[in-house]
Amino acid sequence: MEVSDEVAIQITDMNKWYGTFHVLRDIDLTVYRGERIVICGPSGSGKSTLIRCINRLEEHQQGSIVVDGNELNSDLKNVDKVRSEVGMVFQHFNLFPHLTILENCTLAPIWVRKVPRKEAVDRAMHFLEKVKIPDQANKYPGQLSGGQQQRVAIARSLCMMPRIMLFDEPTSALDPEMIKEVLDTMIELAEEGMTMLCVTHEMGFAQAVANRVIFMADGQIVEQNEPKEFFNNPKSERTQQFLSQII
Ligand code: ADP
Ligand code: MG
Repeated sequence: MEVSDEVAIQITDMNKWYGTFHVLRDIDLTVYRGERIVICGPSGSGKSTLIRCINRLEEHQQGSIVVDGNELNSDLKNVDKVRSEVGMVFQHFNLFPHLTILENCTLAPIWVRKVPRKEAVDRAMHFLEKVKIPDQANKYPGQLSGGQQQRVAIARSLCMMPRIMLFDEPTSALDPEMIKEVLDTMIELAEEGMTMLCVTHEMGFAQAVANRVIFMADGQIVEQNEPKEFFNNPKSERTQQFLSQII
C-alpha cells in the first residue's frame, strides 16, 4: 500500500470552539494521498469534530484546512467541491429508510451530481457488488442486518467517487459478528489505495491497515506514530493509560 508525497489534506494551526467551549486546539496535520490513518482517543476528545471539520459539516474558527488544494472557508463553491471529493461513513448508517438500497445509492449522484440515471444505476450496482450485497439492491434498509446496512452506506459513499474517505466509528453500533464484514470492506478499500481517516477503536484494524495512528485527548493531537511503535512504545502517559484500558 503506497503512500504518495502528494498532500491530500493539510490542517494548519486549526482551532474550533462550540460557543465558548474550545473543542479543537492547535491542530496540525498533513495527510498524504494513500495514507490510512486511524484516530483514537477517549470519548469527548474531539475525534468526530475533527473529521466533521474536514468535510465542513462543522466550521473551524482559526487556522486553515485545505482538502485537495481547496481551502475550506466561507466560499461556498469550495465547500461543494470538497464535499464531492470526501466521502463520509457514520456510526449510524444514516440510510434513507423509505428508499431502496439501490435508490439510496443513486439519489445523490443523480440529483446532486447530475449523473444520467442509467449510469448511476450501473455505478451503484458496481459498488454494491464490491461490498458483496448486489442481491439486496431492491430491499429497504430495514430489511438488512446492521453490517449489511453499513456496507450499503460505504457503497453509497463510493458512488460519489470520492478521493478521500472519512469513517467515524463505523463498527461501533454493530453486533460483534458483523464487525468483520465491515472491516473487510474497509481493508479492501485501503488496499486499492483510498486515502482514509478512520475514527475507530478496532486496534486490530489499526495494526493491519493503518500506516499512522493518531491519539487525541482534550481536543489535541497528543501523539502519533506508525502502528507498531504506537502500540509497543507509546510515549505519553495519556496514551499509555488509554491503551491499557482498551487492549
Ligand atoms: P469524540 O468524537 O472524540 O467523542 P466529539 O468531537 O463528538 O468527541 O466531541 C468533543 C466535545 O465537544 C465533547 O465534549 C462534546 O460534548 C462537545 N460537542 C460535540 N458536538 C457539539 C455541539 N454540536 N455543540 C456543543 N458541544 C459539542
Ligand atoms: Mg465521536
